[in-house]
Amino acid sequence: MQWSDLPYCTPKRVDALRSFGLHAPVDLLRMVPRRYIDKQTAPTIRDLFESIQQSGQTQAVRSSVRAEVVSISVGGFGKKKRTIVKVKDDTGEMDAVWFHTAKWLHAVMKPGTWVSLSGDVKLYRSRLSVSHPEFDVLSDHDALTEQEETPSTMDRQIVAIYPSGKELAQAKISHRLISIWVDRVLNEVEKEAHDDVFPTEWLQRMDLLSHHHAIQYVHQPTSIRDAEQGLRRLKFEEFFFFEMAMAKIRGERRRTPAGWVLGKPGPLVRQFVHEILPFELTEGQSEALSDIRADLESGTQMNRLIQGDVGSGKTVVAMIAMLMAVDAGYQATLLAPTEVLADQHARSLQPWFQALGVNARLLKGAQGSSLRQEVLDDVAGGGAQIVIGTHAIIQQGVRFARLGLAVIDEQHRFGVGQRSALLQKGDRPHLLVMSATPIPRSLAMTLYSDLELSVIKGLPAGRKPIKTAVRGEKQREKIYDFIATELDAGGQAYVVYPLVEESEKLDLKNATDGFEALKARFPTRRVALIHGKQDASEKDAAMQAFANGDVDILVSTTVIEVGVNVPNANVMLIEHAERFGLSQLHQLRGRIGRGERASTCILIHGHALSDHAKVRLKTMAETQDGFKIADVDLELRGPGDFLGTRQSGLPEFQFGSIVDDQDLLKDAKIAASVALEEGAMESSTDEWSEFRRAFGPYFEAKMAFYQA
Ligand code: ADP
Ligand code: MG
Repeated sequence: MQWSDLPYCTPKRVDALRSFGLHAPVDLLRMVPRRYIDKQTAPTIRDLFESIQQSGQTQAVRSSVRAEVVSISVGGFGKKKRTIVKVKDDTGEMDAVWFHTAKWLHAVMKPGTWVSLSGDVKLYRSRLSVSHPEFDVLSDHDALTEQEETPSTMDRQIVAIYPSGKELAQAKISHRLISIWVDRVLNEVEKEAHDDVFPTEWLQRMDLLSHHHAIQYVHQPTSIRDAEQGLRRLKFEEFFFFEMAMAKIRGERRRTPAGWVLGKPGPLVRQFVHEILPFELTEGQSEALSDIRADLESGTQMNRLIQGDVGSGKTVVAMIAMLMAVDAGYQATLLAPTEVLADQHARSLQPWFQALGVNARLLKGAQGSSLRQEVLDDVAGGGAQIVIGTHAIIQQGVRFARLGLAVIDEQHRFGVGQRSALLQKGDRPHLLVMSATPIPRSLAMTLYSDLELSVIKGLPAGRKPIKTAVRGEKQREKIYDFIATELDAGGQAYVVYPLVEESEKLDLKNATDGFEALKARFPTRRVALIHGKQDASEKDAAMQAFANGDVDILVSTTVIEVGVNVPNANVMLIEHAERFGLSQLHQLRGRIGRGERASTCILIHGHALSDHAKVRLKTMAETQDGFKIADVDLELRGPGDFLGTRQSGLPEFQFGSIVDDQDLLKDAKIAASVALEEGAMESSTDEWSEFRRAFGPYFEAKMAFYQA
């Protein structure tokens, strides 16, 4: 089947579909409806009105209503400007309000367009109104007339709402059009034979639909329950292959080469802990280290995640683990996600390595070629015992003589692929990954089910809690006075500007303007600027000056987000705090409260806050506990976003949710292990060939996907 076999499928639309990742008509079947609207139970505007009147005016109703756009207008002045979209159905009218002037809304909310709105509906000046609703465009005006000849999809009781996006909207690909196409593709597919990847008895035992039926139910449900049944099967399938891939990775943790025993406390570890380290290890650090030691002595490759909140002292743990490797005569490496962080690790650890007589080298992208060659030779020759660096370490030209241990800092910034590339740098080296991204334990076990987990509980003794204040623009002068007092007392301050995703230029402008304003406001103070567009040496110079105490105020974009450690810095001012995500705010705030001084974090926000932004700021003010913050974050953002590729280093699930479908995920894990026991692993030449035969050509593709 070709795109040209589908009605209204113009070349422009084909381009849009391609840019959406759909390369052939059959790919449309992989497009899962985001949700369904049951026409019979969707409330009318009058229903909403009545239920609000009954429950009292202040109560909000969370609901989704289908209505037609009547008009769109902009009201109010200056900062109070807002966009009002008037909508109606057969029973009445209501307003949808956005507290800004979003141009894109005008392109979408054209009069005559049918939309579905959901959000907190309130009675405002005796009109129904919903602020910043979530909405779906059900059909747009132009597409409607064009598609009138095939009314069947619109007549369905259950309307499937497909994911949309800028490309699809611009090409006028409506939900309805997608439904029409999906119908055609399903008709075509109907004629083919369908072998299921799972044996029939499995399907019966687990009460699962066949793949083919599931696809049908998902796209053309006659009830919401149908759709759920269909989705359940697709989720199971997806989880199953994920768990198979994970089991395979686990199975590949191999015995270390003969004679390897890392982990016995040797002279370097002893000297470091007893003579050099200026503090006692916390209980959490010691526990993590004994886990690591047991792994290193076990004769099997270590594959461990150290999870510890910001400031819990993960770097020292990595340092000691690396010394264990060096004590045993092996090389160790520490990989950081940014140059700023690699530089910092090198700077803070190098004096210790020097005192111990250990040769530690720094390897990063921005290095002169002669220096780089010298480092590469030193690493390949085995002279370099420790290598600290960025992604540069996993590049092709880098060879280690005897890599015994690889450590990845801020591991959520790396993908599974990068993890495995690092492991290729040695003969079955041990792997230690570290992360401050706190996630509930059950989630962590699923998400990183190929890793063992150690949690560093608690922070080093003597840390003072960080005071967190949420403030508006009006208090700016007071805040500056406060910063001046703290600087006079010998402290240092960060001032952070958000990353505005749509416009890096604007982002930079904010920070640069802020930098100029702060220089003017603090004429006797040393103010420096650091941002992502600077070259590495500029960034490093600014960071170093701040770390040495030569700079009082460091103005920055989010480049300082991860890992940065300047214990004397005790004030952080975050501008436009409402634009940051919770975990980001937590990471940022974790840059202070690392030393003796009492620390304060001030969150300045703009005037109109969304409900979510209010919750985020309130949460920050209330708690410093990364796990609590993660829970709220998860709730606000939903698992897709929270556990997206960037956060977890794993591909996002297309159908399932690690949070909402935990039971199904458990079933899939069991099923995967049963499948393995039932002989899939047994063939001696290729233990997977049996399994591959049993589970069809699907297997390769899925495995490749999860291992990528
Ligand atoms: P993170 O876990 O966020 O990576 P770091 O490793 O950067 O934290 O440590 C934060 C600060 O705490 C550093 O200045 C470090 O020297 C200090 N630190 C680490 N462990 C201890 C300890 N046991 N006692 C006191 N200070 C410690
Ligand atoms: Mg760190």
